[in-house]
Amino acid sequence: MSPDIQDLIRLLSKLPGLGPRSGRRAALHLIKHKDQALYPLLKAITTAGENLGLCTTCGNVDTQDPCALCQDERRDRTIICVVEDVMDLWALERSATYHGSYHILGGTLSALDGIGPEQLRIAKLVERSHDGEVQEIILALNATVDGQTTAHYVTERLATANVKISALAHGVPVGGELDYLDDGTLAMAMNDRRQVAG
Ligand code: ZN
Repeated sequence: MSPDIQDLIRLLSKLPGLGPRSGRRAALHLIKHKDQALYPLLKAITTAGENLGLCTTCGNVDTQDPCALCQDERRDRTIICVVEDVMDLWALERSATYHGSYHILGGTLSALDGIGPEQLRIAKLVERSHDGEVQEIILALNATVDGQTTAHYVTERLATANVKISALAHGVPVGGELDYLDDGTLAMAMNDRRQVAG
């Protein structure tokens, strides 16, 4: 095996969810299906690599700023759904139950990991909540200790904004992360959300 192919396998093996065996299988698949798999992947990775960045409004990852979601005129701009990570946004989009805008914090408060409010995109959320257009902020944070601590902190920071604050309903199991929920459970948690402040 040439060093080039070894390199390809090594890099593929390091991707989340893959390992050495899956890496070898993926590499062989790409090598065998150049036109259908390798070249389109190469093009997608190059485009993403050249243009990816964070949306300065919501923190979403996209190749344009503002991101496609923020530019979409069909989205309801009076509601902002606050999530920890882009994975959570993708989970909510998969469940096709929410049609408002988003705000990605970029993590949770964590004394253990030394993550304070400055490391998260909380100030920008407070700014957005005061723009006069926003009426409701939905806290869709994971049901972990850090997620709930963050939800509590964000609620306090939004106290001066004239917005209703709600949280996802039960159905999100304690310790649960949104990305692991099936779409039906997530849709129900969104539809049955409860008001917590405002
Ligand atoms: Zn955006």
